[in-house]
Amino acid sequence: MAELFDENEGYTVTARKWRPRVFDDVTSQEFITKTLRNAIKNSRISHAYLFCGPRGVGKTTVARLLAMSLNCTDLQPNGEPCNKCDSCREIINDNRNHPDVFEIDGASNRNIEDVRELKEKVKYGPVRSKFKIFIIDEVHMLTGASFNALLKTLEEPPPYVVFIFATTSPEKVPLTILGRCQKFDFKRLTIKEIESRLKFISEEEKIKIDDESLFFIAKKGDGSMRDAQGLFDMSAAYCDNNITFDKLKTFFNLAESDVYFHITDLIKSKDGNTLLNYFDELMSKGYDMQIFLDGLTGHYRNLLVSCSAGDTSLILESENVKQKYKDYLDRFTEIEIINSLKLILQTEYTFKYSSNQRTLIEALLIELIKYTDTRDLSQILDDLKELKSGSKGEVSTFTAGIKTAPKSVSSAGSVTPVNKAPSEKTNDITEKTVTAVLDISAESQNLNSHWISIKDQIKSERKWVYSIIKDTTFEQDEKSNYVIRVDDTSYELVDGYKDYLSGKISKYFGTPLAVNLMKSSEFVSSYVQNKAADPPSEENESDNYERLRSILIKDFNAKEIN
Ligand SMILES: [Zn+2]
Repeated sequence: MAELFDENEGYTVTARKWRPRVFDDVTSQEFITKTLRNAIKNSRISHAYLFCGPRGVGKTTVARLLAMSLNCTDLQPNGEPCNKCDSCREIINDNRNHPDVFEIDGASNRNIEDVRELKEKVKYGPVRSKFKIFIIDEVHMLTGASFNALLKTLEEPPPYVVFIFATTSPEKVPLTILGRCQKFDFKRLTIKEIESRLKFISEEEKIKIDDESLFFIAKKGDGSMRDAQGLFDMSAAYCDNNITFDKLKTFFNLAESDVYFHITDLIKSKDGNTLLNYFDELMSKGYDMQIFLDGLTGHYRNLLVSCSAGDTSLILESENVKQKYKDYLDRFTEIEIINSLKLILQTEYTFKYSSNQRTLIEALLIELIKYTDTRDLSQILDDLKELKSGSKGEVSTFTAGIKTAPKSVSSAGSVTPVNKAPSEKTNDITEKTVTAVLDISAESQNLNSHWISIKDQIKSERKWVYSIIKDTTFEQDEKSNYVIRVDDTSYELVDGYKDYLSGKISKYFGTPLAVNLMKSSEFVSSYVQNKAADPPSEENESDNYERLRSILIKDFNAKEIN
């Protein structure tokens, strides 16, 4: 039974090589395998099955076993497949050419065209087997239209058709589909169950492993046999087929805390180059990308727990590592961790279906650098409140170098200046500022040059926000409202920082201003309408200067010298 079907291809990963070939070999899930076997014995076949449960617990394996039994030409009396007939062997051999059993990945075939193609196949009876079987993995990924198309087939299925759907998210499958399926809930595997399967495999493969390592790997599998088997493969490779806990500790300790702490250190230091090189080093050491991604998620989760709950009791790590998380607390804001975690989870979601997983992770790492600047929203709101109440005593600030001279306050226009106390430089030590009072209504033609200096301040304060607003302009629309004009594609991103930007502009002009965002495509400028005939102004010159400057920095790696 330990025969290897992929001899020509050399090494076969454990999860594939040791995929159960009879129901009786499936770890756990006895209730399901028994029910299915009985149904087959008694020829009570449903036309649609839905297998639900977390990843790596055997859904696809059982789907294949069911397909094997249904089409086996020498079905055993106990309902098990024979493993020897053409149909059985074809399915065991990764089901590449079976004429009547189709495995479809719901995520990459989610559109209506794919379902139509499937319906075409349903029309014709099986070529050489009893049933035509469609195994659709991750079925919840299908689009609404696809589900509707599928539903029609499920309502009146030809007698020879059997659908086996598998999903990790049954709640995303429409009720109309659910109602037509016989549903089975697969349970997470216990540590003991994984342990005993790994023990069996290691004996068959003649890989030595001590009990402590066995327990450790089973626990790390977190309920998923597939993940545990992946870790087992990695450990066997690292320990040269003699897995001892001492060796494993070096391997995983490195993997566990040090690697991820080092990764976050590099992210914090914004050293993209070293970060990518370090990731490359890990990969060349034989790191599994899925495991790396899971580890990164776990690490940020631990950061979040210690940051928001302020205690590390919820972290399932050694005291040593817990202490590290404690020491790390001050380095992150909660919002920064939450944003980073969201990004990682998004990547995890697309990772499985990506044909370029490595690039996906590299892009993720670089993107995480951007989040190191995100500040707590409540902090920004506090700043704004302070500004409104005038407690900071600031009237307006602008960076020296802009040609527009400070003007005295005027109550002209609809804007009411805030109560302004005599300004003192010591009130704001973070910005190189000259305090002055600017009358925004008199500056309507120079709005954008002021905006450039505001953007400069933002750049030194929040690089990430700067990166998404650097191409925006600040203008008045045809109704003389103040608007930030944003490229259509970045509108949503910028919208998240509207309050912050309003605050910055209000602070700059020393008056509370309601600033709106407007998509470039919807913008009608008062300036264009009224001043179209004007010669090029300073504003355009500084626009051009800014553009040139950013090109030099971005494309030619130029550095600013202060
Ligand atoms: Zn067979």
